[in-house]
Amino acid sequence: MTLKILTVGILLLTSTTLFATEKTAQTKNSKPKLILQITVDQLRGDLPDKFMKNMGKGGFRWLKKNGLWYKNAHYTYSNTETVVGHTTLATGTIPAIHGMVSNVWYDRVKKRLVYNIEDKRYHILSKNADIDDSTEVDSSQALAGTDGRSPANIMVSTFSDELSLFTNQKSKIFGVSVKDRGAVTLAGHNGKAFWFSKTSGEFITSSFYYDKYPAWVKKFNDQKLAERYSDKSWRLMYDKSKYMFGDSDDSPWEEDYANFGRVFPHEYKGKENKYFNHFLTFSPAGDELTLDFAKAIIDNEKMGQNNVTDYLAISFSSTDYVGHIFGPSSLEAEDNMLRLDKTLAALFKYVDIKVGLDNTLIVLSADHGAPEAPGYLTKFGIEAKWIAPLKWNKKPSLKRLEKKFGVGQALIEAFFPPYLYLNHTVIKEKGLDLAEVQKAVAKEIMDIDGIALTVTSTEMSNNLFPDTYLYRAALKNFNAKRSGDILILFEPHCFANDMDGGAVMASNHGGPWTYDTFVPIIFAGNGLKGKQIFRSVKPNDIAPTLSAVVQAKSPSGANGDILKEVMETVK
Ligand SMILES: [Zn+2]
Repeated sequence: MTLKILTVGILLLTSTTLFATEKTAQTKNSKPKLILQITVDQLRGDLPDKFMKNMGKGGFRWLKKNGLWYKNAHYTYSNTETVVGHTTLATGTIPAIHGMVSNVWYDRVKKRLVYNIEDKRYHILSKNADIDDSTEVDSSQALAGTDGRSPANIMVSTFSDELSLFTNQKSKIFGVSVKDRGAVTLAGHNGKAFWFSKTSGEFITSSFYYDKYPAWVKKFNDQKLAERYSDKSWRLMYDKSKYMFGDSDDSPWEEDYANFGRVFPHEYKGKENKYFNHFLTFSPAGDELTLDFAKAIIDNEKMGQNNVTDYLAISFSSTDYVGHIFGPSSLEAEDNMLRLDKTLAALFKYVDIKVGLDNTLIVLSADHGAPEAPGYLTKFGIEAKWIAPLKWNKKPSLKRLEKKFGVGQALIEAFFPPYLYLNHTVIKEKGLDLAEVQKAVAKEIMDIDGIALTVTSTEMSNNLFPDTYLYRAALKNFNAKRSGDILILFEPHCFANDMDGGAVMASNHGGPWTYDTFVPIIFAGNGLKGKQIFRSVKPNDIAPTLSAVVQAKSPSGANGDILKEVMETVK
């Protein structure tokens, strides 16, 4: 009896809800004219709220008032790096499936470390715009063996690919970022990607996308917008007293990279300085330039102006560079957040004028979170440190391996954390058992201070481990073709960046802990109403949700869930 009453109650409730939804939906656009996917590199989930007090009305505050803000979104895999996160956002799946397991992996056929989107078949279209190894701060990009770039290494389709298939290429698809991998990943296999050359100060692309630059891109680059910063510097937006970090501008763990300085104002030092364009990317100027180019795409490609849904992906990189150099708890990071907020407000205003925010579905997230600088954490009594994963590779570890297997150093083919690659040829020639060698090397590495877990590829392939958080995160990162023989995970608040235990930057992300996995997911525009949602969701839910919004099929490897709150307003 009780059950029957309850059932009737639910039925009544359901029909009322359905009616309400249907009524609301009639006033909304079921299919947006434009999908605007924004990624803020290294934007940890709590950072917008932390600094909202001094923000204006049109950026994050507007998103909070008018957006569905998922406040409990976490990446589920262990290697929270830039290309891994961007590809997860693009494809709706995990690195085990999309294949972008790390910014850099070892290619056993080419016998060298490779950069994630390098592709020697497709050179960049500009002369003298390739990265300059002598000034490049991005150590993974500096490993690229060629200036060529393409999305070919992404093993599955992206949402943008599916949109293109769904409309038989009628949808216009663009990606732009300061970072090549921030643009190429989201533009997918069928869109067009542009990124910023720190050598030439222009937005560039490769022959994968075009035979020659469209006229409007050439015109844009001819304006030399980067040079307008030549005699300027990065100054605080407000008086120091307004900032949470106003009295700690000069913390010892901040990096004075190439004399950019640790305190305000940070001088850009003029276009003749070989680091000039780099300095722009280490500051809000990088995001401002990205916005300029995004506006040019909207205008020149007439985005959102016809009856099919267009797609524009913008990845803002400055937050990442600022976080690495100064730490996320620094005056620089605080001012950068306020400037990013201003940049977002300007973007939303522009899109509203050109397309209408009611016709635009905005989704904002990040490719990974941000750890605090170890020096900063120590002030709070939290033990944090830089560790030296390379140190295992010294005696006596190798001596012990040599004693056991008759061969030491020659067992190791490559080591680029989080992965170590063994030399399979040597192991075979010596008649050794691969699983046994993996286990022995993994055990030696476990003995280093600050290592939380080492997992071998044999354990991964055969599912030979307990069902714990760390092992699950490791498995989601495991791709048999690209992952190494041994995955190395650090303990919370333990970091490596120069691999010898020193710090070349203030902080470094890339682990499985919540400060690295926590990102915002915000959907806004297209008739959505403001709401904070605290249930657990994942960034790989975004792509299948976007597919559902336009009613296309999900990307080929997608395994995220459709976010039901977003669908409530779609007819
Ligand atoms: Zn990143």
